[in-house]
Amino acid sequence: MSSVVNEELGLKIDYDENVINQLTEIALKHYPNEIGGFILGKYAEENKKAIIIECVVATNYKNSPISFKHKVDYETKEFFVRKFNEDNLHYIGEWHTHPDSNSRYSSTDFNALQRVANNNTSNIENPILLILGFSKKGLNDYSFYVIEKNKISKYG
Ligand SMILES: [Zn+2]
Repeated sequence: MSSVVNEELGLKIDYDENVINQLTEIALKHYPNEIGGFILGKYAEENKKAIIIECVVATNYKNSPISFKHKVDYETKEFFVRKFNEDNLHYIGEWHTHPDSNSRYSSTDFNALQRVANNNTSNIENPILLILGFSKKGLNDYSFYVIEKNKISKYG
């Protein structure tokens, strides 16, 4: 298990490197386009710690080499409900890839995450954003971000 911490907010993420490897494979499969989806996991330590259990690819999306947009449709919501009921997994955020680039967030990414944070149905105050920068040769880097009070900050 690896972990990253956001000292300022006192938030922590635990994750398995295997998840990153799996996402890199998915990223390469969709090259040169971006791809992404949802992060499912659990909370601990009074919601100060998020534990990533699995990442899934969105089913309803539009993408290009410089964009990724998904829609949370009825089926996706049903999927979340099922995951919660059967495995006690929460929706904890979003992930997507940056082909031929790094894991720095764009203004589009910021706006999208802000919408998630302000969406009452998503029910989470601090959604996680995971971005993977990669090229045809493999992973360049990856970063975790969190949004808090309309400000985005990175986990170190
Ligand atoms: Zn992005």
